[in-house]
Parts: sequence; C-alpha cells; structure tokens
Amino acid sequence: MRGTIFYVIFMNEKRYYSLDKFYREKFGCKVIKISLDAGFTCPNKDGFKNIGGCIFCNGASGIGDKKDTLEVQFEKVKNVLLKKWKNAKYIPFLEANTNTYGALETLKKVYEPLLKFDNVVGLNIATRCDSIREEVYDYLEELNNRTFLTIELGLQSSFDETLNLINRGHTKDEFTACVRELKKRNINVVIHIINGLPFETEEMMYKTIEYINYLKVDGIKFHMLYIEKDTALYKMFLNEKFSLLSREDYIRIVCNQISMLDKNVVVHRLVSDPAREKLVEPKWLINKFEILNDIDKYLKEYNLFQGKEKE
Ligand code: SF4
Repeated sequence: MRGTIFYVIFMNEKRYYSLDKFYREKFGCKVIKISLDAGFTCPNKDGFKNIGGCIFCNGASGIGDKKDTLEVQFEKVKNVLLKKWKNAKYIPFLEANTNTYGALETLKKVYEPLLKFDNVVGLNIATRCDSIREEVYDYLEELNNRTFLTIELGLQSSFDETLNLINRGHTKDEFTACVRELKKRNINVVIHIINGLPFETEEMMYKTIEYINYLKVDGIKFHMLYIEKDTALYKMFLNEKFSLLSREDYIRIVCNQISMLDKNVVVHRLVSDPAREKLVEPKWLINKFEILNDIDKYLKEYNLFQGKEKE
C-alpha cells in the first residue's frame, strides 16, 4: 500500500511547473477553471482593427452557450465537475473572444457577479494586448486587490513578420507595452503561443520563449498550429502547402522550450485541443492525452526539467 502511494506521488510529479501544482500551492485544494462565453466580439474580426481575424480563427468560440446566462453556463459545468471533485474551488474563465472589448460599465456588469458565485476564488479574462483602455487597466488593478485576477493574452509569436502574416493586428512592441502595464499593477499574466506557425523555424520558436522569459510573466499556454475548415489558414495551406510540424517535432520542440522556460512560469497548457469534427490537419492532435504522456516520457528520457538550462 505504502509503495502504491509513493508510486502515485512519483507519477504525478511533473518536470514542469503545472497549473494544478500552482493552484494547490496557492489555494490548498483542487481549483478548476470554468470557460464561459460572455458574448463579447473581437476587434480583429468586427472591423475595428481588422476584418477576418487571425488566419487560424474560425470565428466560433466553442465555449459554453452564450444564449445561457453566465450563471447557467457556470452551473452546468460545475455540476458535472462535482461528480469527480466534491471539494474543488472554481475560477470563471471568460475565454471566448476579447473580454475587455467594451465600455467599462459593461465590463463591470459582466465581471462583478462572477465573483459572487459559490466557491469562486479568482477570475481569468482572455483578451488582446490592444484592447485594454487606461480606465480598464485601473479597474483591473482594483479588481486584482479583491480577487485572484489573471489576464490571458494571445501572442502566438514574438516575430512581427509572423504576426503580420497571421493577421494578428498588433505588433510585438504593443504586446510588450500591455504586459508592462499589467505587471506594473501586479496582475497575473498568462501568454499563449503557437508552435509551427507558417514559415517559422525552430530557432524562432525558441526565441519566442526567450522573449517570454524577458517579459517575466506568470504563465504560458503552448499550442500546436492546427487547421480548421472555413479559415484563411485552410486556404493558405491549400495554396502554399507550408508544412505542419510532425508529432515528433512538436514533442521535441515543446520539451526544449520547457527546459528554456524560467522555472517560475506556470505551464497552463502543453498542447492544443481541437474539435475533432472541424480538424483538417494535423490528425495526430486528436489524441491529446497520449501526446501529454509522450511529452513526460521525452522529458524523462533526455533528463530535461523546466528552467534546467538556467541552473
Ligand atoms: S484575437 Fe482571438 S478571437 Fe480575435 S480573431 Fe484572433 S483568435 Fe479570433
């Protein structure tokens, strides 16, 4: 029995700083994020910045049902989670589109009720680096004094030529300025990156990790580029036939990135999780749990740990 317990502990010990570990250290219990769609739009799609959006974006959030109130969306997911995690706490995650893209009063009406839901210990807000106005930064700072606030920002690449190619609608400098504003206010920042963007080299993907270390942010989500129908990326893929990363290349690159990553940066995600019915390529992404297992195996085989290069 004792041997079994040690085995389980050993198996759960990751070679990177996992989100589950971070939450357990911070809150002393299991904490689960619940993704919600508050019905915001995106300035990169609605014409304010651009029309069409990022070339990989299919326009659908795939999160919750925005016809339901946020409370109903939250309760539906929580009731499922309760079967497995009876004593968990929750963090509502405004994930769909750009969740600071609205008038300050509108944002307050969306955010404030979420903090009053049962067993909520924080709030995550996904947004763009060009969509937080000065008065909103100040409100976020005040909100951060009342709850554990995290802002999630899509970066995808630290190279302006790639940002331009994928129609992000912002530059690296704008991104840096936004992170500075948030960190000045002590707000937790999580950055999303995509490996395998068209025409990026492996070296460029490692440079993006160096940039993340330089920014001194709090968390990272790794994604693998994938292609869905009804996206500009799909058309580009058909016309230009750029190559996608193989499964082996992705695992090797992400493991090397983990070893380069500052050891204090929490890893929120290691691989994308596309909807099976919409996925065109790469098909190997469908089996997410096997990929996660193989990342663990690779890290072990090559004796890699997060931040090892820095020690
Ligand atoms: S910023 Fe997000 S929601 Fe907007 S177009 Fe890009 S991926 Fe889609």
